[in-house]
Amino acid sequence: MIQSINPYNNQLIKEFEELSEADIAAKIALAQDAFESWKQTTFDERSGLLHSLADVLIEQKEAYGKIMALEVGKPIKQAIAEIEKCAWVCNYYAENGADFLRDELISTDADRSYVKHEPLGVLLAVMPWNYPFWQVFRFAAPAIMAGNVGLLKHASNVMISAGNIEACFTEAGFPKGVFQNLIISSNSVAAIIEDERIKAVTLTGSKPAGSAVASKAAKEIKKSVLELGGSNAFIVLHDADIDKAVETGINARYQNTGQSCIAAKRFLLQKDIAEEFLNKFLKKVETLKSGNPLDEDTYIGTLAREDLAIELEKQLKASVDKGAKVLIGGKRCGAYFEPTVVTDVKEDMPVLSEETFGPLVAVVTFDTIEEAVELSNNSKFGLGVTLFTSDITNAEALVHRFDEGAVFINELVKSDPRLPFGGVKTSGFGRELSHHGIKEFVNVKTVFIN
Ligand code: NDP
Repeated sequence: MIQSINPYNNQLIKEFEELSEADIAAKIALAQDAFESWKQTTFDERSGLLHSLADVLIEQKEAYGKIMALEVGKPIKQAIAEIEKCAWVCNYYAENGADFLRDELISTDADRSYVKHEPLGVLLAVMPWNYPFWQVFRFAAPAIMAGNVGLLKHASNVMISAGNIEACFTEAGFPKGVFQNLIISSNSVAAIIEDERIKAVTLTGSKPAGSAVASKAAKEIKKSVLELGGSNAFIVLHDADIDKAVETGINARYQNTGQSCIAAKRFLLQKDIAEEFLNKFLKKVETLKSGNPLDEDTYIGTLAREDLAIELEKQLKASVDKGAKVLIGGKRCGAYFEPTVVTDVKEDMPVLSEETFGPLVAVVTFDTIEEAVELSNNSKFGLGVTLFTSDITNAEALVHRFDEGAVFINELVKSDPRLPFGGVKTSGFGRELSHHGIKEFVNVKTVFIN
């Protein structure tokens, strides 16, 4: 059985029976049938339905937000904001998708030559629990606008939300089979990728999951997009606006209770301002309100599962054993983990060398910008980096030196439908969002006429 367990009180919310092989086969067949007619629809028709989808999300945001709070311990306010962002991405592609995918005329020696963007077919999305709605919608809105259809294998602990997402599509009026949720464990994923009707796969999650799915897709010669972990640096230079950096740093690390691939996990502080920054930062951390995720004023919820909190505790303990010092927090109770700040951190400690998926900041100080760039790049991940400074010219000159998918200056790394999102190194490959994202799952077809 697949279970949704409330991490705040450890109570079982709902159990699901896994789909049988026959059930899965029927859903793939329905998806393929749906694709045959969906690909013939006009952009206007798709756009109208995506706008309706956005409306449904807004109408249901409280109800679905509450389920997210119960399923993964996400503070209710943040859960509702996540659903609003999903409505944004639906409206964004409804308004811009046709433009992104219009035929592209290219002058060659032909009488006329151009590029068409055609949908691929049935896509499989393997998604994680940290943003149960957003991770799915940022894949689904562009993919479906492009004329593809989607099958979702969501994380096992968020199957109620997964069902709610499918319900949104139905309520918005999408034809049956354009978007379906599969109640399956990860064991069923390889066989689905093998099915010839599945044309491509996207996964957001850990490296082992990404590696398993992408290698299976590669074996079948199918495209994959991977959005994996990150350990973003948050660099504060001596000339930064410290108050703004502190405020932004709090959100960059602690929103979603620290469970975000693009969260700032390594704080790199220039020595002259490190003490001032830390004093102010710790004062803010003390005020962060932990509590019941259903309470409006809760900012720190629980982690999504107790095993994730235990893993974070292990990473912290192994680092402390090697000499790291806990300035605040550090304790776990069930799935709850206190907002934590750790200093005296060295490269070989897990809080620095591994991804920490929870409310934990690892602090390192540096003398020169050269050192900061080196420290930032000294990571197997490459999702993004934040640089706080008042010297924008100097900051822009540094951009090319960061091995990252994104550089944000005086802002936390965040996803935005209008900007491409994705990483380099073991953070994955391919891009989501923007016009880049919608082109990941299309056949870029060359037409040459003489
Ligand atoms: P996983 O990467 O295991 O899960 C993500 C998704 O992949 C889930 O739907 C999961 O299904 C599925 N999956 C896992 N293994 C396979 C496989 N071999 N084949 C096919 N599908 C698979 O994340 P965890 O829940 O285990 O979290 C562990 C760590 O992963 C976190 O601590 C964090 O570091 C990282 N992570 C990163 C995320 C990001 O946004 N980049 C999001 C979530 C986690 P099922 O739930 O059924 O196992």
